[in-house]
Amino acid sequence: MNNFKNLRGTVDLLPDQLIKWQNVEKIIIEQLFRSSVKEIRTPILEMTELFMRGIGEGTDVVSKEMYTFLDRGERSCTLRPEGTASVARALIQHGILTRPSQKLWYMGPMFRYERPQAGRQRQFHQLGVEFIGYESVNSDIEIITLAWDILEKLGIKELNLEINTLGDHIDRSNFQKAFLKWLEVNKNSLDLDSQRRIDKNPLRILDTKNVQTKKILEDAPRLFDFLSENSIERYITIKEKLKFLKIPFIENFNLVRGLDYYTHTAFEITSGALGSQATVCGGGRYDNLISQMGGTETPAIGFAIGLERLILLCGNELEERRETDIYIVNKGVDAEILAIKLSRKLRNYDLISELDLSGSSFSKQFKKANKLKAKSIIIIGDDEVLKNQFIIRLFKNFSSENQEETISFDDDTKLDNWLNKNLGIKDLP
Ligand code: ATP
Ligand code: MG
Repeated sequence: MNNFKNLRGTVDLLPDQLIKWQNVEKIIIEQLFRSSVKEIRTPILEMTELFMRGIGEGTDVVSKEMYTFLDRGERSCTLRPEGTASVARALIQHGILTRPSQKLWYMGPMFRYERPQAGRQRQFHQLGVEFIGYESVNSDIEIITLAWDILEKLGIKELNLEINTLGDHIDRSNFQKAFLKWLEVNKNSLDLDSQRRIDKNPLRILDTKNVQTKKILEDAPRLFDFLSENSIERYITIKEKLKFLKIPFIENFNLVRGLDYYTHTAFEITSGALGSQATVCGGGRYDNLISQMGGTETPAIGFAIGLERLILLCGNELEERRETDIYIVNKGVDAEILAIKLSRKLRNYDLISELDLSGSSFSKQFKKANKLKAKSIIIIGDDEVLKNQFIIRLFKNFSSENQEETISFDDDTKLDNWLNKNLGIKDLP
């Protein structure tokens, strides 16, 4: 027999783990809802072309990490490695780039063919937020605070915000010229990965993790020295406003996003608790992406949070599950169908009920209820079936009073009153 296993780099999330995931997602979604950021869902599968254009062929993602294949119609398709390109495509395609400006979020699986390790998977999940049609310094500030506050709301401590500016595309190309000249001279001192980037994506060299290259780069020309006055002023304003809002930050001149369409603000949020894959959130302004993809010139800024790394940072308190309110103990074929009928009724209340369909002895079912720490139990046996009624009572470990009541299957009001009085539960609107 075949022993099937999941593909390398993919992960099954099992019910016990998902409690934490669901709690985290709920906190995030509520926070975004309260901030008037709207959800967008785009397909997981897109034309390969989209990512080549929207992420850039010189990037690691496009050059070696994409899941690309031909479909049955011989079209090249790719499982999305990130969300921004798809969002931009959707807005351009539907003609809703800036009518009005859009604050959007998405959450879901992304795919990158990387070497799996702690905090790095081939199928992973991101929360992304994109502000499309926003140009002002304050929109940079709003989006940074949004990311920061989500992380704080989740109780994560010891976070570092790193910021940098990339200037506009003129600043960048001036810098790039000088940098390439320097690279020509110093090429042989760099690590192989960085050498390979010289032709494809030289700016990304600044982002290297190679210690030796980092040291050599200290003598390279600095992007900062090529910034126009406007760009510098913008950056200074950003720093002032972050200080005003009491959001601590570190300046990191080596923080870059490798592509031409990135402009001005770039930021990352890292945590020492994550070890070598320290970045939980990466973001930046991409004023030239949408025009590069064929849309009208539209300024934009966004960030993405890696959910696997985020979950690692969240505390155990988010693993707590809501306890069972009612456990329905029953025995016998007739009792079972009445129990199903009753459990349908209980779905009209904001409570968690569990129906036992094991057919095992009452004492075994009680034990299960006990193990679940159910607050109350409903009992349906032969006697109850005959009389068309059920017994409901607070479970013995939950209350010393053992509030017990016998209720007819037809008496909704009595059930209503009991739930309200003993569990504080009201029926759903
Ligand atoms: P890295 O330098 O860690 O590869 P990146 O620059 O490729 O990051 P982005 O494309 O900016 O990452 O993605 C944003 C976030 O998504 C990252 O900060 C990280 O938290 C998460 N992320 C990226 N790739 C993976 C992966 N393979 N597995 C798990 N999380 C990931
Ligand atoms: Mg990566």
